[in-house]
Amino acid sequence: KDFGVQETLKRLGIEPINQGVSTGTHWFDCNGAVTESVSPIDGSVIAKVKNANAADYEEVLETAQEAFKVWRKMPAPKRGEIVRQIGNALRDAKDDLGKLVSLEMGKIYQEGLGEVQEMIDICDFAVGQSRMLYGFTMHSERPDHKMMDQYHPLGIVGVISAFNFPVAVWAWNAMLAAVCGDVIIWKPSSKVPLCALACHNIIQKVLKDNDVPEGVFNLVVAKSSVMGDNFIEDKRVPLISVTGSTAIGKRVAEKVGARLGRTIAELGGNNAIIMAPSADLDMAIPGIVFGSVGTAGQRCTSTRRLIIHESIYEDVKTRLLHAYKQVEGKIGNPLDEKTLVGPVIDNGAVEVYKHAIAEVKKAGGKIVYGDKVLDGNFVVPTFCEVENHWQIVQDESFVPVLYIMKYKTLDEAIHLHNDVPQGLSSSIFTMNMREAQTFISAIGSDCGIANVNIGTSGAEIGGAFGGEKETGGGRESGSDSWKTYMRRQTNTINYGIDLPLAQGIKFDF
Ligand code: NAD
Repeated sequence: KDFGVQETLKRLGIEPINQGVSTGTHWFDCNGAVTESVSPIDGSVIAKVKNANAADYEEVLETAQEAFKVWRKMPAPKRGEIVRQIGNALRDAKDDLGKLVSLEMGKIYQEGLGEVQEMIDICDFAVGQSRMLYGFTMHSERPDHKMMDQYHPLGIVGVISAFNFPVAVWAWNAMLAAVCGDVIIWKPSSKVPLCALACHNIIQKVLKDNDVPEGVFNLVVAKSSVMGDNFIEDKRVPLISVTGSTAIGKRVAEKVGARLGRTIAELGGNNAIIMAPSADLDMAIPGIVFGSVGTAGQRCTSTRRLIIHESIYEDVKTRLLHAYKQVEGKIGNPLDEKTLVGPVIDNGAVEVYKHAIAEVKKAGGKIVYGDKVLDGNFVVPTFCEVENHWQIVQDESFVPVLYIMKYKTLDEAIHLHNDVPQGLSSSIFTMNMREAQTFISAIGSDCGIANVNIGTSGAEIGGAFGGEKETGGGRESGSDSWKTYMRRQTNTINYGIDLPLAQGIKFDF
């Protein structure tokens, strides 16, 4: 069954061979290497993409610089109106784009649709935000003076995105940046270039209808030899938002930091759930299973560790075993609506899965369920009993392997919870108010996201998204994340007839 894939590709404007560079409505005639987009479902080539060469990148950058001069002058609510129309275009294309996400990345169709919904949600959020780019006013210590803070557009925002959220990460950044008056250069993961191409095809008509200058929304599919260090070291790009592994994030942060540029780093997680004695297991088990096997364990917020109170340890283990057995029967083609777990992205990920399990065994851990590679890129979600300090448990393995461990006291649980290098998402399942409040207090979870009675994955766009420690410290999406996309200016205005100096200084001459 082909699930109508060819028709979907056609509607999204994906050809057998595509250009990988666009400044909005203009697709370049690229001269770089050719990337094959390979579906993780069956290893087939979906389509090819011609990459940028160095000259293409330079032209995009110069076009973006010119576009910024125009875009920054457009009133923010008018920019918001364009983002509103983009949101509507995404609504119209939701089914097709969701299917392409599923086909190219391998997440199940429902999750593909969910990812497109996140794009729509951030568009709606950004439209509202476009009327709320608030500054402050302050009372001056000098008579007849007024002080205020205001936020101005920053310039070119570089977006480097990971394979596992091939469309939403761009939207989270680009839609906010756009209402803030910035222009965007998107370098998607080379594993999922078609999703990026499709997004640009979807927004093209809106850009044309509104005479948006070429260079506001840019896409550059390129190898890191063409758009790697030269991009992150480029002083013409004041902000780089990078989503990816901690290794890549560190490199980007170092290079951008060396030129005192700004970074939003959204990197790896090692997310845990604490299962307290009073946890409502009927609620918790589906949350754990979704968190650990959803997207085949390839979410930055996937549940990787489960810290279970000793009094409920056996009960949780038995219920998980039951759930994991059921999940095994629902591994398959992610486009099939009955499937719960699709493939991992590629053979490299299958090797990561095998390595994680081998390391657990070597350290003396016990595999409770799983440890099975099926055909192609399909693996059986696995969970194992481990100790938190083992290196393999400390590392993020971006595959469906869940680690479980026991605790006696809440202090011990919080210590285990925080005792990893990463700090993205976390949860506690408890009906005890003291435990819940302690977990989200200053002495509780050290993560950027800390939940009570919901799992670690599936954040809403209304909150600021990101994490601490080796997760990078960046925040994007909701709350006041928009401020990172703007430069802040403090103004003092003297509307009197004297020039008093601050701090009472006299400087008469
Ligand atoms: P990755 O680090 O391999 O790649 C991320 C991006 O960096 C890709 O676009 C890649 O092409 C690019 N890149 C690689 N080398 C580069 C270089 N030298 N210069 C510039 N860019 C370069 O990550 P991945 O495998 O695509 O994604 C999985 C990782 O992303 C996991 O660690 C996951 O936790 C993380 N992630 C984090 C978040 C978050 O919000 N915290 C969200 C999604 C994924």
